[in-house]
Amino acid sequence: LLLAKDIIKTFRNGEQETCVLKGIDLTLTQGKMIALQGASGSGKSTLLNILGLLMRPTSGELRLLDHALTGLSDGSLSSYRNRHLGFVFQYHNLLPDFTALENVAFPAAAPAGRLTGDIRKRALELLDKVGLSDRSHFLASQLSGGQKQRVAIARSLINNPKLVFADEPTGNLDQDSAKQVMALLRDINRNDNTTFLISTHDNSVAANCDEIVRIIDGKIAN
Ligand code: ATP
Ligand code: MG
Repeated sequence: LLLAKDIIKTFRNGEQETCVLKGIDLTLTQGKMIALQGASGSGKSTLLNILGLLMRPTSGELRLLDHALTGLSDGSLSSYRNRHLGFVFQYHNLLPDFTALENVAFPAAAPAGRLTGDIRKRALELLDKVGLSDRSHFLASQLSGGQKQRVAIARSLINNPKLVFADEPTGNLDQDSAKQVMALLRDINRNDNTTFLISTHDNSVAANCDEIVRIIDGKIAN
């Protein structure tokens, strides 16, 4: 599904250069839930951003769904991202003054320029899937942390992505909500064969995944 070869990422702050990723090789298999672990500052978010086409690597090769992505324009990358990838962030990044329904629909409605009937229907189905049908008209700011995260999960699925990147999706939740979120991801994984790459500090989250990959000193440890 996804192949990363020798991904290197160096950040430059004025005079100072920091090499965060020093040659990441990674293969993600369709239909798996993969945990990404590593110390704070080891480069997990950086790697998710690069694999998710939100940030360009300093060097390295990426293939997604058997397409080489190296050297594509920003425009092609973002349309590729919109069609095939989904994201769940630690701080959910919902639009606080939009309803749950509008937030879920947003990634599909924004390119279309409006909330069409089809998009609305799909967004309602997804809210139902995450158990929040009765909250569709609540503003995001009126939802609890766990509910917000479930809305964010529904939003990540609106364009039927093959691959979803989740950066600490349970990082701000209590144990019960975290369990609920993980059960939900597993459910989606089983039903739709969606692949998940989940960065997490929580070993019980990692234990619920099919594979664990670790970043140590800028590389994937075996
Ligand atoms: P955490 O577990 O705390 O979320 P992480 O593994 O996700 O950490 P990253 O956020 O990927 O770590 O950061 C890795 C390193 O890259 C850090 O040292 C950070 O300071 C540096 N870094 C990240 N983004 C930038 C940036 N835009 N400019 C400069 N340095 C950056
Ligand atoms: Mg991070």
